This record gives sequence, C-alpha cells and structure tokens, in this order.
Amino acid sequence: MTRLIIMGPPGSGKGTQAEYIARHFGIPAISTGDIFRAHVGGNTALGVEASKFMDSGEFVPDHVTNAMIRQRLGNTDVGAGFLLDGYPRTTSQIDALDGILSGNQQQLDAVVALTVGDDELVDRMLRRAQEQGRSDDTAPVIRRRLELYRDETQAVVARYSERGIVLAVDGAGQRENITAKAISAIESALGKGL
Ligand code: AMP
Repeated sequence: MTRLIIMGPPGSGKGTQAEYIARHFGIPAISTGDIFRAHVGGNTALGVEASKFMDSGEFVPDHVTNAMIRQRLGNTDVGAGFLLDGYPRTTSQIDALDGILSGNQQQLDAVVALTVGDDELVDRMLRRAQEQGRSDDTAPVIRRRLELYRDETQAVVARYSERGIVLAVDGAGQRENITAKAISAIESALGKGL
C-alpha cells in the first residue's frame, strides 16, 4: 500500500512526475484538475458547477471537491494505493482527506514536495509559452501565479511537515533524474515505516 501526495509549483513538472512515480508504484495518479476538466468536457452537472470557478481561476468549493475525492478514493483501482496531484489544496481539504482515510483505516505515507527556484520556473514557463506561441504568459504574470501558489500551499505543507511526512525533492534538472530521486526518497520513507 502506497498512499502519496505530490505538490509542486506551476512549471515544476509535477503532472509528468506524478505519472512516472505512480507507474513505478503501480498506483493511479489522481489529478483533481484533470477530473474537473473531464467533467467540464463531458458537460456533467459537476462540470457545469466546477467551470463557474475554474473559468476565473478560483478554487472549486471544498464541499464539491471533497465529495468528488471521497467518491474517487472509493474506486476499486486504489487497492494498492494512490498518488494525489492537486489535492489537498486547503487545510479544510486536509481534514476531509484525513476523515476519508481514517474511515478506511488508512493513512498517508508521504508527501513529495518538488522544489524549483522561482527564476528557473519563470524561465521554463516563458520558454513553454514561446514554444506554444502564447504571448500572455509574461514574467510578471508568471511570478504572480507562483506567489499565489505559495500563499495557497504554505499552510498545507506546514501541516504535513508537522507530521514528518514531507519529502523535499529537488525538481531542477533532467526528468529521469528527478523521478529517480523522488522514487528513492519515497522508498526509503516507506522502509522506515513513516
Ligand atoms: P489544476 O490543473 O490543478 O491547476 O486545476 C485546475 C482548476 O481546477 C483549478 O484552478 C481549480 O479551479 C480546480 N481545482 C483543481 N484542484 C482543486 C482543489 N484541490 N480544490 C479546489 N479546486 C481545484
């Protein structure tokens, strides 16, 4: 059983790392952003509700997000564990996740926090914006998004740090090397029974 969370700023390669790490452990990577986007694309009731918030860059309300995760973690494919990407993002979501897990007599094994310096992130995102022919991703806007990310996640990381389950992984460099570092950090945490 491997129950993990991955956190990382925009541009840190979090989604890609989530896929590789999850594959290594044979668990699903569960991205709340992807699930919401699928609902929006399928025009479901949840999608209609979520898009009101997503369109303006706001958080979908906690009760909606928590209910969705509760349902997702009830699926049979999480038997070997899961890797959450994009959740929890608020302290009330932490409480909800704790409730879901303790109700199932489960607990989290580790929280992988990808760390990448702001200058590196701004460079990467500007490069990506250029490659995709976008002109709206300017350095000040990107810096603002990074600032918001830090405001938003600081409390979440702090809560998990208190429990001693945060694994900081340097997210600069080659994709393969970062994946390998994350996997070995997780394996040693699992070995210690953290
Ligand atoms: P992401 O792809 O993770 O950036 O998520 C895209 C959008 O989905 C966000 O801007 C939010 O509107 C919504 N979203 C994703 N995850 C959450 C979450 N944990 N809590 C609230 N809203 C979320």
